[in-house]
Amino acid sequence: MRCLSCGRWSFRVFCVECTRALFVPEISHRKVGSLEAVSFFPYREIERWILTKHHAAGYRIYRFFAAQIVAPFLHEYRVGDETARVIGIDERVEGGYSHTAVLARYGARRAGLEYRPGALIARNRVHYAGKSLQYRLEHPRDFRYRGEKGGRAILVDDVVTTGSTLAEAHTLLRRYGVEVLFAVTLADAAR
Ligand SMILES: [Zn+2]
Repeated sequence: MRCLSCGRWSFRVFCVECTRALFVPEISHRKVGSLEAVSFFPYREIERWILTKHHAAGYRIYRFFAAQIVAPFLHEYRVGDETARVIGIDERVEGGYSHTAVLARYGARRAGLEYRPGALIARNRVHYAGKSLQYRLEHPRDFRYRGEKGGRAILVDDVVTTGSTLAEAHTLLRRYGVEVLFAVTLADAAR
């Protein structure tokens, strides 16, 4: 295949040179309510690739991010504690796959953590892009949780913007007695 960035022949979606040049993660922390949200890139830096989630090509790109970025971070965590399970935020399938499920599944698998597919699905299909925090708070995702009660979990999403989605998921999981250790997102729109 060809590297999606430079067009040279490559074994992976991005060649070694582009991986080194484009995707050097810089870990940043942010508080969303009482939840710690970790991100690896300013949103603008990887926006072009984030937006591929609306297309078939996004599947391979999100797998790349899961393997290259999410998994190594989760693996570091796992060295200290192996009991948390990984939950993707709103794993609804659109256009053949769920981009958050790809991130969560391959991130967890490569890190050796448990993963619960489809545990959190939004009942409200509202689109948040370009919407204010006020709008987001007035139109919650209304998540349905289909996982175990109790235990510990790590949330995975592609982008954190206002944090309202993560906060809503966190609140719901706490109602089920799940302790959310932290959230992992690829990009932070506020960076
Ligand atoms: Zn390249």
